[in-house]
Amino acid sequence: MNPFAKNIPTRDFLMEIYHRLYALYGPQHWWPGETDLEIIVGAILTQSTAWSNVEKAITNLNHQQVLTVAGLDKIKESELAELIRPSGYFNQKAKKVKAFIHYLRVHHHGQLDSLLGIEPTTLRKELLSIHGIGEETADSIILYAARKPSFVVDTYTRRIFYRLGCHPEKISYPELQSIFTRNLPSEEKLFNEYHALIVAFGKKQCQKKPHCLSCQLQDFCWYSKTLSLPKPSPQTKKAHS
Ligand code: SF4
Repeated sequence: MNPFAKNIPTRDFLMEIYHRLYALYGPQHWWPGETDLEIIVGAILTQSTAWSNVEKAITNLNHQQVLTVAGLDKIKESELAELIRPSGYFNQKAKKVKAFIHYLRVHHHGQLDSLLGIEPTTLRKELLSIHGIGEETADSIILYAARKPSFVVDTYTRRIFYRLGCHPEKISYPELQSIFTRNLPSEEKLFNEYHALIVAFGKKQCQKKPHCLSCQLQDFCWYSKTLSLPKPSPQTKKAHS
């Protein structure tokens, strides 16, 4: 039997997952950023690194008071790279932040509101045209800085929904994203919370080496059935009954 046929990702199925994760973790209050620009810079810096490293880089930028459009425009790329060193790939990321600021200056007179005010489809095209902004970063900016519905998918989404039998292991970004966008109402608040909850679940429960015995989604999960799990102890059963 093809395991991917098991859970056809309908609206009801996806909402059931959402409600279970929400019951488990509650509201996540994303994105952790004080200003739209901080959210955008954070979205670029978080590529290929943990959020704790991004926080150190953001703290450096704030200490030097350069986390403004004018500040990031003025600072030399090499100095910017030093400040964001904790986020890893700092030379490449400095180039990307500079490319974003250059685009903003040339096409929107340096006005973030002008860029973020564009309707989402055009905004996504504009963002994707900027060096260093890929699909996940563009969708994060649209969802969390522009506050418009654009479902963000990432490594956690891919891992969890593969294990839940919703798609094959290899799936493109647009195909994975469309599982959510074609089934869920296009609501910014729902997309915001859903993505944040997926990240929480991927970090805490469905890790590379998953914690299946205590998992609230195990009844949906074909992947856990392929693992040789130890039998739950009476205490574990009681705790999750
Ligand atoms: S049962 Fe295990 S593999 Fe399946 S979703 Fe839960 S933690 Fe992930």
